[in-house]
Amino acid sequence: MRIERDLAQLTQPFDVIVVGGGITGVNVAREAAGRGLRTLVVDKGDFGHGTSSATSKLIHGGIRYLETYEFGVVRESLRERRVLALAAPHLVQQQRFLMPAWRWSKPPTALIGAGVLLYTALGFDRNRHMPADMRIPMPSWLSRDKTLAAVPWLDPDQLQGAYAYHDTFNLHPERLLLAFLQSAVDVGAVALNHVEAVGFLFDRDPAVGGDVTVQGLQVLDRLTGERHQVRGRAVVNAAGPWMDLVLRDLGRSMGVKVNRSKGVHLLTKPVAGQAQVRDTVFARARSGHHVIVSPWQGHSFIGPTDTHVDDAPDAVRADRSDVELILGTLNDTISAGYPKMTEEDIEATTVGIRPLIVDESKDSYTTSRRHELYDHAPSGVQHLWSIGGGKWTTGRALGVETVETLLKSAALRDLPVREFDSRRATAHGAFAWAEDARPYFDAVVRSRPTLPLDDVTRLHLARLYGTDHERILDLVEREPSLAARISDRPDRLDIAAQVVFAVTDEAACTLSDVLDRRLVIGTLGRVDRTEVERVALLMAPLRGWSVEATTAAVEAELGRRAAVELRWRGTTTGA
Ligand SMILES: Cc1cc2nc3c(=O)[nH]c(=O)nc-3n(C[C@H](O)[C@H](O)[C@H](O)COP(=O)(O)OP(=O)(O)OC[C@H]3O[C@@H](n4cnc5c(N)ncnc54)[C@H](O)[C@@H]3O)c2cc1C
Repeated sequence: MRIERDLAQLTQPFDVIVVGGGITGVNVAREAAGRGLRTLVVDKGDFGHGTSSATSKLIHGGIRYLETYEFGVVRESLRERRVLALAAPHLVQQQRFLMPAWRWSKPPTALIGAGVLLYTALGFDRNRHMPADMRIPMPSWLSRDKTLAAVPWLDPDQLQGAYAYHDTFNLHPERLLLAFLQSAVDVGAVALNHVEAVGFLFDRDPAVGGDVTVQGLQVLDRLTGERHQVRGRAVVNAAGPWMDLVLRDLGRSMGVKVNRSKGVHLLTKPVAGQAQVRDTVFARARSGHHVIVSPWQGHSFIGPTDTHVDDAPDAVRADRSDVELILGTLNDTISAGYPKMTEEDIEATTVGIRPLIVDESKDSYTTSRRHELYDHAPSGVQHLWSIGGGKWTTGRALGVETVETLLKSAALRDLPVREFDSRRATAHGAFAWAEDARPYFDAVVRSRPTLPLDDVTRLHLARLYGTDHERILDLVEREPSLAARISDRPDRLDIAAQVVFAVTDEAACTLSDVLDRRLVIGTLGRVDRTEVERVALLMAPLRGWSVEATTAAVEAELGRRAAVELRWRGTTTGA
């Protein structure tokens, strides 16, 4: 099923309208539509362009939350880690983590070990239904020598060894989010990107006071400037870090606040030039700060920071101070025998904002990652709910909880619903539920041998699209020139057919939609003018862009990307 950006759909009444197409809103939409509810999800930007595409790329329990006794969050996350791995074996992958322990480590080595064991115990069902290549082994202790053999750049001074345990990679969070959105569309949801909720529709004038009932939304098509009204029985505000700003339009206090915490990652050349390192390293420096260093697509992916911000989410960028904090923390754990990482090693930054539940007694690092569903009825606004907090990993569980609550409410209670169990459902494009990916990938390489695509490209397509990669191959079969790579760089594997598919089947509207969230080229470091132009020329006829509009789009996109980089480079090297 295609994701069709058809605003004519707004004339029909919906049962559930979801504001926000991040992982939370997508899961709410999937759960609602899966139960047969007429469901609409709108996002003011692109699906997943907010926090959900700026994560640490992990589907995990969050071992460090044990330090703040978040046992409930960790258990729920470990349960969901398994559900996601079974649902989308093409986009998730088990990954070994090393947690090094030095004599000076805090918490001390024995306590780290106890934490790893507790983490494993909380994931007691981790291998239930798990196919062979996804099974998670028991954790182990690696001697100092074995640790250094696995990660040669670690500071050997006072190093005792490392605990090895497994978590799961969310290889391309943008694509997995899209797969879940497509799953929602497959079961009937309408999904519209670049459509902003700008106000609510009420049964009567809210300025008069007293209880009001939300009956829908006023929305703005950000591509055309047109405004529409759309009716719905229940509205769910899943705007993540924008959650309180959506409520601001109500003109009355809802008593709900978001603690915005900025999280930055760096994409760099492999740490200390050690491209062969396969493990993710959870490196905690003497300062107490930690960074997670993951090998990713031939690069290192390092972060995150965790700092409270007061700025509106749209204004938040990675700054020089964020970059310095990450590099400083990492460099404290690098051996004197290896080069330290510098700004020159950085290829890109990502920034996301955690929409944390407000807890005045804690800073953002120690604030709980739990989620909260707020019913605004006690504040005098009926049929409106907001979601705060949460993790990418727990998005499905949050979707279930939200829809089950809505179904018990006066807004939806009388509606007939059908059975839907997302615990055992595949994500759109998954070749099977709970099966090893290797035989599937082997078959992909052998199929349709006459197409002008090498094995690496075929595997790349199968990884990103699962079974939908066949549709990309269909495009290439019809028009072999669509097999051309977008980039001249050998490590950038995206091909022209993906751009066509992104526009025709995945509702990509802008250059950034395509570069950053349909293809992966935009997530691999700086995108050069030729690459942007090639994508623009493929999009132009499909989007109806004139020559001038295409040129303007290219310049705007290059300008936007350059501005992001100038900001974190600061004034010394940004010119
Ligand atoms: C640095 C960092 C690393 C993280 N790493 C991980 C990790 O590895 N694993 C994990 O499980 N979790 C991780 N998290 C947490 C996780 O990413 C978030 O909890 C999750 O993505 C939040 O999703 P969301 O849908 O609530 O918000 P978002 O993804 O921000 O989505 C909200 C959406 O609402 C839209 N919106 C806002 N206002 C409007 C409006 N008026 N009308 C229409 N749409 C609107 C926005 O455009 C946006 O797309 C990380 C978070 C950060 C910041």
